[in-house]
Amino acid sequence: MRMFVRGEWISAAEQFEVTNPYDGSVVDTVPRATPADIESALCGAVEGAEVMRRLPGYERYQILHRAAQRLLERVEEFGRTISEEEGKTLAEGRFEAGRAAETLFLSAEEAKRIGGEVLPLDGAPGAAGKFGFTLRVPCGVVAAITPFNFPLNLVCHKVGPALAAGNAVIIKPASDTPLSALKLTALLLECGLPPLAINCLTGSGGQVGEALARDERVRKLSFTGSREVGEHLCRVAGLKRITMELGSNSPLIVMPDADLEKVAAAAVATGYGNAGQVCISTQRLIALDQAYHPLLEVLAPRVAAIRAGNQLDPQTHMGPMIREADAVRVGQWVEEAVAGGARLLAGGQREGTLYHPTLLADVDPNQRISCQELFGPAVAVMRAESLEHALAIANNSPYGLSAGIFTQNLDWALRFAREMQAGNIHLNWGPAWRADLMPYGGLKHSGLGREGPRYAIEEMTETKTVVVHTE
Ligand code: NAP
Repeated sequence: MRMFVRGEWISAAEQFEVTNPYDGSVVDTVPRATPADIESALCGAVEGAEVMRRLPGYERYQILHRAAQRLLERVEEFGRTISEEEGKTLAEGRFEAGRAAETLFLSAEEAKRIGGEVLPLDGAPGAAGKFGFTLRVPCGVVAAITPFNFPLNLVCHKVGPALAAGNAVIIKPASDTPLSALKLTALLLECGLPPLAINCLTGSGGQVGEALARDERVRKLSFTGSREVGEHLCRVAGLKRITMELGSNSPLIVMPDADLEKVAAAAVATGYGNAGQVCISTQRLIALDQAYHPLLEVLAPRVAAIRAGNQLDPQTHMGPMIREADAVRVGQWVEEAVAGGARLLAGGQREGTLYHPTLLADVDPNQRISCQELFGPAVAVMRAESLEHALAIANNSPYGLSAGIFTQNLDWALRFAREMQAGNIHLNWGPAWRADLMPYGGLKHSGLGREGPRYAIEEMTETKTVVVHTE
């Protein structure tokens, strides 16, 4: 595919391959953007921001709504592209494409709701007769840097709100998975988006992404990816608005009164989806002493029954990891945990990029498989003596994106909601659950700001205060 820069589909002297993570076959090739392409995208976006600023909200609504409808009609096709470039199963790809349409529908609706507030200025001393109101205005140019693991929906979570709010956007998709973003760009253009309003630049993060993050013409940087890159970008971005959606090692606490069948179902659904490459995947399962052994008995056979394989085979439950190096890393962390006293109850084998669904018991919380972000298909189970102890283990993390608890006890549930340091709290389900309309984001080193179209629009607009000095 070509990339879209300053209103045109262009190629470049150098191309790179997008490969299927399962077998390494080439899915497509994309251009490697040069510094001149980046400059051209930025100039185009500055012009595009002027066009978008003048486009009425209803027209922005219509474009996004049309795009959402057409995406729904093409869910199979988009779902297959996601699956081919990312490695998630066809069912997961289809599900993501459907969610991406929903994200665009939500963004379209919000385009009609961007208002300000009336300010009771006569409440200030000496301000009798004055009247004020606020206007919400677009930021201008939004740079959207996105990760590989949800190559369509996470792009929609930035592009949808950016356009709904009347901005121009420059997308820098992950180099492993740029095809979904390029197809989305084409879809939006087909639906009437002014060509200068969107750019999609392919090329390495260190070059393209960093140049965008540093540039003063970009007023808003919206980044989803690893904590290391996110922290680096915060240092170099300078004076601009920033949203950071970063990683996690999400915990799920199991209290003695939990329904263990439901816990096992939740642990499988939220621990191994997309081969564990989900920022809110269940990574640490912390069970209270009374629930510990019964839970392992119910859970181990379920994990062993997850069929890993070719993501394009409809019989497969879990596809490969994005890169072999990541599967090797997961293997090393599993081996390290076993050497440190953990028991391997399922999985532990690797074939190329495929890492079999793995369950470890008796994990020491200080092992890397527990205290760092794994981003792979293994769940580490550990025990706690009390809710207080479980919370101490769960909160002993630099991250705070999402967390869950299973209990029927209202006091325990509410104590968890108050004391768990995470931006998303789930009572009676695992941490990996998200409705695209909800405010979503992390505490601590999991990030800054919130996504979900309504909330992202707040961060992609700025407030002007207007004061009327009447006599
Ligand atoms: P990543 O390596 O940080 O890459 C994310 C994006 O940043 C890619 O487009 C990458 O481009 C770009 N990039 C890399 N280095 C850069 C630099 N120096 N300057 C600017 N951009 C740069 O993350 P990933 O492996 O794709 O995704 C996995 C991570 O994302 C995990 O930590 C996961 O938890 C997190 N994540 C968080 C959320 C959330 O909502 N909180 C959601 C999904 C994923 P290249 O691909 O070209 O390197």
